[in-house]
Amino acid sequence: MPFKSGRHTLQLPGPTNVPDRVLRAMDRPPIDHRGPDFPGLANSCLKGMKTVFGTKSEVFIFPSSGTGCWEAALVNTLSPGDAILIFDQGFFSSGWQQVATRLGLEVHMLPGDWRRGADAEKLHAKLSEDRDHVYKAVIAIHNETSTGVTSDIAAIGDVLRDTGHPALLMVDSVSSLACVEYRHDDWRVDVTVSGSQKGLMLPPGLGFTAVSEGALAATASAKLPRSYWDWQQMLTFNDNGFFPYTPATNMLFGLREALAMFAEEGWPNVFKRHQRLSEATRRAVEAWGLEVYATHPEERSRTVTAVCMPDGVSVHDFRRTVLDRFNMSLGGGLGGLKDSVFRIGHMGYLNEIMLAGALCGVEMGLRCLDVPLKDAGVTAALSYLTEPDE
Ligand code: PLP
Repeated sequence: MPFKSGRHTLQLPGPTNVPDRVLRAMDRPPIDHRGPDFPGLANSCLKGMKTVFGTKSEVFIFPSSGTGCWEAALVNTLSPGDAILIFDQGFFSSGWQQVATRLGLEVHMLPGDWRRGADAEKLHAKLSEDRDHVYKAVIAIHNETSTGVTSDIAAIGDVLRDTGHPALLMVDSVSSLACVEYRHDDWRVDVTVSGSQKGLMLPPGLGFTAVSEGALAATASAKLPRSYWDWQQMLTFNDNGFFPYTPATNMLFGLREALAMFAEEGWPNVFKRHQRLSEATRRAVEAWGLEVYATHPEERSRTVTAVCMPDGVSVHDFRRTVLDRFNMSLGGGLGGLKDSVFRIGHMGYLNEIMLAGALCGVEMGLRCLDVPLKDAGVTAALSYLTEPDE
């Protein structure tokens, strides 16, 4: 690779930029994870993550990626052959489907339009028909990272309440947590899973799970085999501030620092910053004359924008050009959208100037490939970002 001056711009929808403060907090010798100093670190992280999830119930931290927490959610609450219902929202719903199928669950997909959020009315109809309570869990993705569509989880929680259906509600908040408000308890979610490498401003390597009392109770009858992922074992150790096996100690130092940074910024400001940066991105896309994949404005993600590439332009050539010429990584399309969209991540440790630079990189890349642009997208974004702040 030829030498490239200046910083690489990591504009993926995860992993995201890690603040220097977090990197410095991690840059230290590990401590004894069975020694007297460890519980202080573990407890501050567990307590802080309860605030992030919006729960008073239990939170677990696994040394894993988000997918590990998916597996943990299923094996701790379900038994072989149990039927579950997954909203088909995009590439990451297929991920849940694969994990659940491999574990021996009977997976039913609830068809949906990938350009729209999970359809609560469809779920209502499906659960109302299920008088024998065949479905043991309903799985939804809060923010489908492959499509840039956010779903109304509160509405889905309401469906479970209104139908009186006893299925557990499991939600993937991997690319929304710590960027948009998340209310595990208020939305009646049973299991929420997430990961460290997106909104939480950490490197990849930690998986997070919030678990309701109902989900914890389900462990008593759940028969899927589990060992590493066993919540009860984790709970027993966590109660004393420890882990059943070697935790990712230095990641926890990073997490403690990231949580301190969120407290300093204030959650309303964190959410507002994500809202503004996502709006600026969409204004740029629309000014270029390109199409945002998510069709409904209120469902457009505050953390990632999937942009439809005009016919005849290769998404792969575009991303390669942006990387080679401008040293910036953009997200590609995933699964069925592999050749038709590129994705601009705008989550985590980001500000106006970083985003403006990234949008310049996108605009330059589009020009290099002679994509006809309607207008100057960057200018539209800057106009929005310089409007007086209310
Ligand atoms: N769910 C969503 C919505 C994601 O965006 C991702 C990863 O990008 C995952 C799940 C999988 O998480 P991980 O790669 O941390 O296992």
